Amino acid sequence: MITFQYNCPRCGTKKSGFEVRTYYENKKYSNQSIFSILATCNTCGGSIISDIKVHDEDSYTTPLINQFIAKLESSNYYNLKEAYTGYIEFQPNNQLKAEIPENLPDRVSDELKTAEELYMQVQAKPNFIKVSGNAYRTTLERALCELAENDARARLDKRIENLFNNGKLTKDLKNFALHIRSLSADASHTYNEFSLDELNELRVFTQLFLRYTFTLPAMIPDDLKENVTGN
Ligand SMILES: [Zn+2]
Repeated sequence: MITFQYNCPRCGTKKSGFEVRTYYENKKYSNQSIFSILATCNTCGGSIISDIKVHDEDSYTTPLINQFIAKLESSNYYNLKEAYTGYIEFQPNNQLKAEIPENLPDRVSDELKTAEELYMQVQAKPNFIKVSGNAYRTTLERALCELAENDARARLDKRIENLFNNGKLTKDLKNFALHIRSLSADASHTYNEFSLDELNELRVFTQLFLRYTFTLPAMIPDDLKENVTGN
């Protein structure tokens, strides 16, 4: 029996436990076999597959192919790394990745990393929806602190309104922000109803907001900045 840890492309769980459930040995060459293995995630039950080439030399006393089969068939646990030392790539390999826009202040990107880490796991762990939402909200709070010297106690939606009034946000972005119910500090009493859809919306807004307020301005040459922010 072969087990291993892997970042699950199905549910997003980091270093989830996997177990090889079945394999097919393709004996295409006399001294090499291609093993197609199927493994399942202990968190979500989803499967991933890989083709592993095991090569033998005549001089080996115990052929590696036989050793590999023995570990696959054994009732003992073997880690994949001790069963096979080569590089292994699994399919599907569309692992979720955190999206961190460039040119963010450190405090903002630290918070966003936390939010993204939680977000990537919500499919496997629905109880992460709320904490992830809180983390995006904290990210926005930090971003607003960096952007403005305004009253730290003002509600998030009020502060976004102020940024619009000061010409630091577009109307569309402001309206989008105010549309997101969960932005309001008053939303805390509706936490139990905070849904995955709302989280997705909050995430999209946070990403757009940070790109618009930090990433894009940093790309504008200094001599043009006056014109852009002054319009
Ligand atoms: Zn999984």
